[in-house]
Amino acid sequence: MPESLEARKSGCRVAAEAGALILTRGGHAVDAAEAAVAVLEDNPLFNAGTGSTLNREGRVETDAAIMDGNSLKAGAVAAVSGIRNPIHLARKVMDASRHILLAGEGAYRFGTLHGIETCDPQELVVPAQRNYWQKEHGTVGAVAMDTHGRLAAATSTGGIFDKLPGRVGDTPLIGCGTYADGNAAVSCTGSGEDIIRTTLARHAAYLLEQGMDSMVAASQAIAYFSNKTRSEAGIILMNCKGQAGFARNSVHMPVCILGPDRAFFLDA
Ligand code: ASP
Repeated sequence: MPESLEARKSGCRVAAEAGALILTRGGHAVDAAEAAVAVLEDNPLFNAGTGSTLNREGRVETDAAIMDGNSLKAGAVAAVSGIRNPIHLARKVMDASRHILLAGEGAYRFGTLHGIETCDPQELVVPAQRNYWQKEHGTVGAVAMDTHGRLAAATSTGGIFDKLPGRVGDTPLIGCGTYADGNAAVSCTGSGEDIIRTTLARHAAYLLEQGMDSMVAASQAIAYFSNKTRSEAGIILMNCKGQAGFARNSVHMPVCILGPDRAFFLDA
């Protein structure tokens, strides 16, 4: 197994632990999902926050979303630069605005008004060759259920390499790359345009709503996606019993599942 994959697996584990710590203290699923994604954003091995891929002009523009399944509240940001942790900005949009999705300069200004940490956009750029590894350094996501049975999903990404400035992928679009309600929490990675076409997160949530087993629902959602688009994607999800599922038709997607008993499962 390549060294970078091992490092990304352990990065996933650290992120899951950060989320689990909040849950074991009785915290909210939204806080747990946000915390796990923020840890992954800070890890340069992933294509989110620090380590994000570059657009055609050599700049980082990030997308992120968070959704509280209990209240159906959501917050998202798209094509935003100079924000160290886009997931915190998405959370702020959810909590402190009457909107769901803010983009670009407006999202950045909203962040500065609400005390979100900004940075020189260059600080999010790690050595350029990482961009050629983009397939292996994907989007990050987390799904969680808290002790009250509330579900949440969070996703963050630098998008796809060489994208046009202003391009927005599936991640911040509710029902496409990110979705949570009372039955399901879902986060997706992969070819954003194809995930949008198939509203993949909502599709998977519907399967869970019908009572399908989590692992089966994840596989079926990816099979549906493959049939429709012949493209690559990965999905993580959780049902209303807190059972996690995941599937992918892409090469690598490290996944860490932490149970209430701290038992964990790690896969790539
Ligand atoms: N889904 C992301 C996007 O298209 C990219 C990825 O998951 O790697 O923006």
